[in-house]
Amino acid sequence: MTNCFILLAAGKGKRFKSNNPKQFTNYINKPLFMHSVDKAVKSKLFKSIIIVSNVPIKSIKDKSIKVIKGGNERYQSSQKALNFIKNKRFTNVFIHDAARPNFSIELLKKLNSNLKKNKAVVPYVTTNNSSKYKIGNKIQNLKRENLLFTQTPQCFHFKTLYNLSKLNNKKITDEASLFLNNNKIVKFIKGEENNFKITTKSDLEKKNIQNFYGIGFDIHRLIKNKKLYLGGIKIPFHSGLQGHSDGDVIIHAIIDGLLGAMRKMDIGTLYPSNNKKFKNIRSPNMLSPILKNLHKEGYFINNVDINLICERPKVSKYRKKIISSLSNLLIVNEDQINLKGKTVEKLGLIGKEKAIACESIISLNYYG
Ligand code: ZN
Repeated sequence: MTNCFILLAAGKGKRFKSNNPKQFTNYINKPLFMHSVDKAVKSKLFKSIIIVSNVPIKSIKDKSIKVIKGGNERYQSSQKALNFIKNKRFTNVFIHDAARPNFSIELLKKLNSNLKKNKAVVPYVTTNNSSKYKIGNKIQNLKRENLLFTQTPQCFHFKTLYNLSKLNNKKITDEASLFLNNNKIVKFIKGEENNFKITTKSDLEKKNIQNFYGIGFDIHRLIKNKKLYLGGIKIPFHSGLQGHSDGDVIIHAIIDGLLGAMRKMDIGTLYPSNNKKFKNIRSPNMLSPILKNLHKEGYFINNVDINLICERPKVSKYRKKIISSLSNLLIVNEDQINLKGKTVEKLGLIGKEKAIACESIISLNYYG
């Protein structure tokens, strides 16, 4: 199965009242639309990403990402994108509005797994507000339990959606409407409160941003006949780091920094060394549940700074590789990570190449 991700970023944003369309304004450290692009890339679910935009986007270098021109209305932009990929043999297509930058990668994965048995999968949220419906001058009560507010990303079997879309010439606000208007089955799954649509300027500030900081430190002895792992990658060296796990001091210091910022104790409490279950565990596997939790609770990593303290290996030689590996593991961009190498003038255990230590400091943004 191959998936394509279509990002609709051609809207004029009349309610936004700015010359710069809202999709391109800066939002949490980058242009708003890039949040969706980055998440689609990081999810690894998509062979290709199509951005539909009426202004040229020059910053995109990735070959799997194409920018095409949109139409006047949302449904026309969506039609153009579907037409553009019609001969590219995608099984499924995800369609997303760039104005919703806050969905999670977990939501993409949940949508994808539901596509195995369905031709249309759509996330929704409910409301706590009492709801009414106006027909002419009459206002009626509505049962709020029966109201579904649909979000994007929405995902579909490509051919089915393409055929429905081709025949449509009416304004619709999402692709789920096409399916429902044609009496086709849609699988609705729980969406995310956080995945709200940015419509006005005040929505940009809707999230109450708080900053948290955490520090981490770790040290392991070097022993013969063990592989050396630093930042999730294997590094050729005369020894490896002793420990219950693979001894990756960089990842361990990062884990403690993350837990510190989240105010959730420390790595030893989560992974006690007397628990056989964690024997020889690879450090990326220790990191991933913590990261999942971090995203679920509404935290985002702002930046990570690392001091790797060792005589050798030389950090400069592996810096690029380690940062690239950490960027994948932490689901952040490489420019959010800094790695410094520090020697200790040949002093002590570290100086004699009998141990490697690492410290980290991490800043998290919390969007409540
Ligand atoms: Zn450790």
